[in-house]
Amino acid sequence: MIRGLIFDLDGVIVSTEKNHFLSWKKIASSLGVVFTEKENESLKGINRRDSLNIILELANIRLSEVKINHLLNKKNELYKYSLRNLNKLDILDGVEDLLLEAKNKNILLAIGSSSKNASFILEKLKLTNYFNVIIDGTMVTKHKPSPEVFEKAANFMNLSPKECIVFEDSASGVSAAKEGGFKVIGVGNENIKLIADVYLNSMKEFNLSDYESVV
Ligand SMILES: [Mg+2]
Repeated sequence: MIRGLIFDLDGVIVSTEKNHFLSWKKIASSLGVVFTEKENESLKGINRRDSLNIILELANIRLSEVKINHLLNKKNELYKYSLRNLNKLDILDGVEDLLLEAKNKNILLAIGSSSKNASFILEKLKLTNYFNVIIDGTMVTKHKPSPEVFEKAANFMNLSPKECIVFEDSASGVSAAKEGGFKVIGVGNENIKLIADVYLNSMKEFNLSDYESVV
């Protein structure tokens, strides 16, 4: 029986991938790195620090801890500034209908995101009140593909992984969910079609009633 839904944020509820991409692109070009959608693919679902490490590897340079922290802050400033006009219209198709339907059926709702800005983004989208639990990048010690973020979300809901469905758009997130024993639905990223249990082009293709009686 499905009693809880756990959502990744970026790429599932809202698409801020472009904002991340353009912010990283600025950081990368300041380091002399050519940064295209191709390089960006390896950053999806990866936390800020590890993302910068990937870019530094591409640049083949090593920086002091001070300089690294400066770049991490700079990237976050660029990113948050780019989100200043984020609003309800940016919620991806089908998401709010699903949240509402689940809420009405007493299914618990959680966020399991690597983002340290998850609460900021949910406030902007006016979705905060739907969620029983919000686990973000500030609350975990191990990032995706570690299942910690999803395990924490399930624990806070008092549910076992088998009672939850995870929605993910990144390969690291799908691996994290599978490692934790969750059923995982891949959304909107053809690269995860083969690794997710079920794949959907968009959240609006998800039909909650298909899963309600699944034991
Ligand atoms: Mg994502």
